[in-house]
Amino acid sequence: MADRGLIVSVSGPSGVGKGTVLKRLTELIEEKWPGRSSYSISATTRSPRPGETDGVEYHFRTREEFEKMIETGEIIEYDLYVGNYYGTPAAPLAEKVGQGKIVLCDITIEGSLAIEKKFDEDSVTIMLLPPSYSELEARLKGRGTEDEAKVAARLAKAREEIARTGEFEYAVQNIEVDQAAADIMKIIESEMLKTIRQTQTIKNLD
Ligand code: 5GP
Repeated sequence: MADRGLIVSVSGPSGVGKGTVLKRLTELIEEKWPGRSSYSISATTRSPRPGETDGVEYHFRTREEFEKMIETGEIIEYDLYVGNYYGTPAAPLAEKVGQGKIVLCDITIEGSLAIEKKFDEDSVTIMLLPPSYSELEARLKGRGTEDEAKVAARLAKAREEIARTGEFEYAVQNIEVDQAAADIMKIIESEMLKTIRQTQTIKNLD
């Protein structure tokens, strides 16, 4: 039997660089604990972007299918984001924790808090912060995908989201990707040293 794993929920405003940091973090986890990193594949009603495949980045579902998943309890938490549903499938999450995996979740604030409530000691919540609001603005503009009004709306939302940082256990500033991933790694390393995640190790001392 494996020691318990850990759910690592990471939230942060649009443009803060969650995706890039989580990618780097996966490499660091694999270096330290080979085969134990995992990623929670959410279900969503938004359409796939070019290059995205069903079952890889997301489980792409119709609104009807998604609502059915809510009804049957297949989804452990869900949130609406820019008019679309996003939710975390329950069974794989519990299963992976039981297998000792470190499961990364890239989810909204409400999502992180809901997972924390349900998984308690099996979960840790982290808010990813930008170096500054002006840097966040520059990153959002740098994407070149949004007009002035949309950037302003995202910045206003970012301020609201960051105001809720105190509801998270940890906050990590993403000044630079490697440094942010290394900071999150420190959190995971100390979580992995908690006694509840070493019961098998202790049993196996003999
Ligand atoms: P995107 O459409 O850019 O992939 O994701 C939009 C937002 O949805 C991001 O903030 C992402 O963190 C969030 N998100 C993705 N999956 C889930 C989920 O399962 N639950 C919740 N609550 N948010 C999610």
